[in-house]
Amino acid sequence: MKTPLIHFDNTYARLPERFYESITPSPVKLPQLVRFNFKLAQELGVNAEGVASNDLAVIFSGNQILPGSEPIAQAYAGHQFGHFVPQLGDGRAILLGEVIASDGKRRDIQLKGSGRTRFSRQGDGRAALGPVMREYILSEAMHGLGIPTTRSLAIVTTGEEVMRETSLPGAVLTRIAASHIRVGTFEYFAARQDKEALKILADYVMARHYPEVQSLPQPYYEMLKAILRAKAELVVHWMRVGFIHGVMNTDNTSVSGETIDYGPCAFMDEYDPNTVFSSIDRHGRYAFGNQAVIAAENMGSLASCLLFLLHEDPAQALKMAQEAINHFEAVFQNAWSQAACQKIGLLHADSDDLSLILDYLELMQKNNADHTLAFHYLSAAVGEKKVPPNLHAVFSQSQGLEPWLTRWNERVLKQGRSAQEITRAMNAVNPAFIPRNHRVEQAIQAAVQKNDFNLMNRLIDVLARPYDDQPQESDLMQPPKPAERVTQTFCGT
Ligand code: AMP
Ligand code: MG
Repeated sequence: MKTPLIHFDNTYARLPERFYESITPSPVKLPQLVRFNFKLAQELGVNAEGVASNDLAVIFSGNQILPGSEPIAQAYAGHQFGHFVPQLGDGRAILLGEVIASDGKRRDIQLKGSGRTRFSRQGDGRAALGPVMREYILSEAMHGLGIPTTRSLAIVTTGEEVMRETSLPGAVLTRIAASHIRVGTFEYFAARQDKEALKILADYVMARHYPEVQSLPQPYYEMLKAILRAKAELVVHWMRVGFIHGVMNTDNTSVSGETIDYGPCAFMDEYDPNTVFSSIDRHGRYAFGNQAVIAAENMGSLASCLLFLLHEDPAQALKMAQEAINHFEAVFQNAWSQAACQKIGLLHADSDDLSLILDYLELMQKNNADHTLAFHYLSAAVGEKKVPPNLHAVFSQSQGLEPWLTRWNERVLKQGRSAQEITRAMNAVNPAFIPRNHRVEQAIQAAVQKNDFNLMNRLIDVLARPYDDQPQESDLMQPPKPAERVTQTFCGT
């Protein structure tokens, strides 16, 4: 007997029916595979090696449903830009099922752009190629950077057009996630005062993502704290690489701690905490420097759904929720200082080190320095008396840079590590490559206009090793020239 392509092992479909809608993907006209992640497939136990590309296209477009798959669209709600929407749900995504990956952990396999569902409201349930490519490139880059994220398994073009502002080629993305349970999934049931469902969901999340808290005296409280911790650490990761999620609504906030829902997200070039790319974020709610505040707010929304599970006395429950939020802030501050220290080559922060870091950030902001290169080139300045030319070039004016470097050199060399060791440690946390927005946009344009996927493929391959020097790819390290700048991104839904 031929081994099955995917060994499904579904659990979400076993939950009560009000958690989802059973629905099959709507077939597409002419599925064509443009990218497949064989390495990820192997980790998932998906036996794709040697399978014809046409067959993969048929499967990962949703045109063929494999045995064991139980396609569902998940119900969720969410706070969008601060306003509560009681019903969102998978409007253009369909969960095919779950697998147990080689690390022993459960993963969702989901199609995005696979047709309408009960939750589609006005949308067409489809996705355009551009946003699908953006999600593939950025999520895989995120993984390369060592940051928890959903992954991308496949891009299949559909041979159909989708109507947005203009007519665009359609595509389906296969997304892999630890789960697709969001803060908004809890809010969906909380809005319906469905405590039974909330408890079932909380127990499910605990068993799937935080089994270590199950045996503790206050498991729900401990789970809440664990989710908050994961979220705080995630935002610190985003900040250390200059990532701006762009739509940190509670429906786009995973309870597993993974980065999820790559819409108008982008990496910033010049360091400025006020940076916003998303065209719909007019007031800068989700600006780079605001992400921790918003994450805390989202965690507050989650805590309020769980109150009745925290303690039977409402006042006591509220107190515990507040403690958990305080815990978020403490974890965030601590993780942020730690990450910032590592970026400038320090093992741990002394009392003066925070000002050393903040002064460097201020210099960067004042001199329009590229966030990535300002840290990447700094690693070569350890022990140097003069400002290295490549670092010099990152700052519009080098005034203030030399005294800062002198101060910094004195400090880092006091830790007892050699210059070489410091450089190596810094290079392990300061990437050379990020998915620069202008490159992502160029890759999308080439694909959409000329069916040319070369730049996309090159970006994905280079970004799989973002900390490595790849001299032949050095053009991809560079920030955009003024004419190449892309300052806006769109949801693309
Ligand atoms: P997002 O902004 O991508 O997180 O989407 C917010 C909500 O809109 C979710 O409920 C999506 O399922 C839904 N949605 C987004 N795009 C579409 C689409 N093309 N068709 C149907 N629903 C969509
Ligand atoms: Mg979303």
